[in-house]
Amino acid sequence: MKKEYDLIIVGSGLYGCVTAYLAHQVGWRCLVIEKRSFVGGNIRDEVREGINVHLYGPHVFHTRYQEVWDFANLFTRFNHFRYCPLARYGGKMYNLPFNMHTFYQLYGTQTPEEAALRLRQEQGIYPHPRNLEEKAISMVGRTMYETLIKGYTEKQWGRKTTELPPFIIERLPLRFTFDNNYFNDRYQGIPIGGYTPIVEKMLEKADVLTGTDFFEFRAQNADIADKIIFTGMIDEYFGYRLGALEYRSVRFETETLDCDNYQGNAVVNYTDGEVPYTRVIEHKHFEFGKQEKTVISREYSSEWAVGMEPYYPVNDEKNNALYEQYKKLADEEENVIFGGRLGNYKYYDMDKVIAAALEQLDRIV
Ligand code: FAD
Repeated sequence: MKKEYDLIIVGSGLYGCVTAYLAHQVGWRCLVIEKRSFVGGNIRDEVREGINVHLYGPHVFHTRYQEVWDFANLFTRFNHFRYCPLARYGGKMYNLPFNMHTFYQLYGTQTPEEAALRLRQEQGIYPHPRNLEEKAISMVGRTMYETLIKGYTEKQWGRKTTELPPFIIERLPLRFTFDNNYFNDRYQGIPIGGYTPIVEKMLEKADVLTGTDFFEFRAQNADIADKIIFTGMIDEYFGYRLGALEYRSVRFETETLDCDNYQGNAVVNYTDGEVPYTRVIEHKHFEFGKQEKTVISREYSSEWAVGMEPYYPVNDEKNNALYEQYKKLADEEENVIFGGRLGNYKYYDMDKVIAAALEQLDRIV
């Protein structure tokens, strides 16, 4: 007997929304189930004081894939924003990512040759770094490590850098050009008007149930679709029967200020261990806002426990091994496909989410 829907999509984050749009294009009837009271997942933004506020952290769209860029441009136009975060330490400002401006600010070096020489002189010798501190010093030396890496990383992970594994900073890109643009991708920008209108457009032709948890829904509606795309937490799907995968969480304190420009930049990282938050986001600068007021969010890193908002998967050996076991169970699950950052237990940038959803749907169809 024909079922009510061809596809149930669990989660209205970017992965779920791209899938819903594509499924409609091939004539599938789709139901999207979202446990939050609104759609969009972690790219959701909302307007306050005329400013698009990124509710789950600053989101800058960037990609080198033409296909992904073309796809995103079906739903919006992008502005010319470039992500050039700053770091603040001990009352001084530094440019990020580490580049010739940063070396000048740290060491006073003016040419690439001077900077490279100074870095070589600074680098500590740790042939087999045992922890993140040793690894960082072996790559960039003590001055840069203490000014820009130590305090920030310890806040981010809630642990001393001497207790963190070296793999976390396997690479620290150093640029020997005066270039503050964080991303190397050819296509970059912020959607004009925000991210929420994009996901709303993607969902136009799907049925959407917000404020509905899939597991409760399934208990009442066992058999209404041929296939399920599940973008929630893979371990939760299996009732945590092998144990819970770990995440790092963050929380935001958002405030409207009675001034038009608080910090002059979209993002300032606080690399000082004494300041409790990791960064301050001033949302209007993503869209070159001219509003009278401004909205800022202080971002705090925090431990995660089951039931809290999961942000960053902890892809260490232990968790990756556990994920592989869950993946085996997932592969055996008939007519259920796991996708997105929570379903695949993987940090995905937005362009990778779009690419993965495009590829996944191609495969199913
Ligand atoms: P999500 O957005 O998490 O969507 C999953 C959805 O499923 C959620 O809405 C959730 O409520 C719902 N759900 C879960 N379980 C259930 C259930 N049982 N029943 C019903 N619904 C359920 N990427 C970039 O490209 N550029 C950036 O600058 C950038 N900045 C970031 C900053 C931060 C702080 C973070 C954490 C991520 C950032 N990202 C960035 C990554 C970006 O957020 C992700 O690529 C994207 O949001 C992932 O989409 P998703 O659909 O996989 O997951």
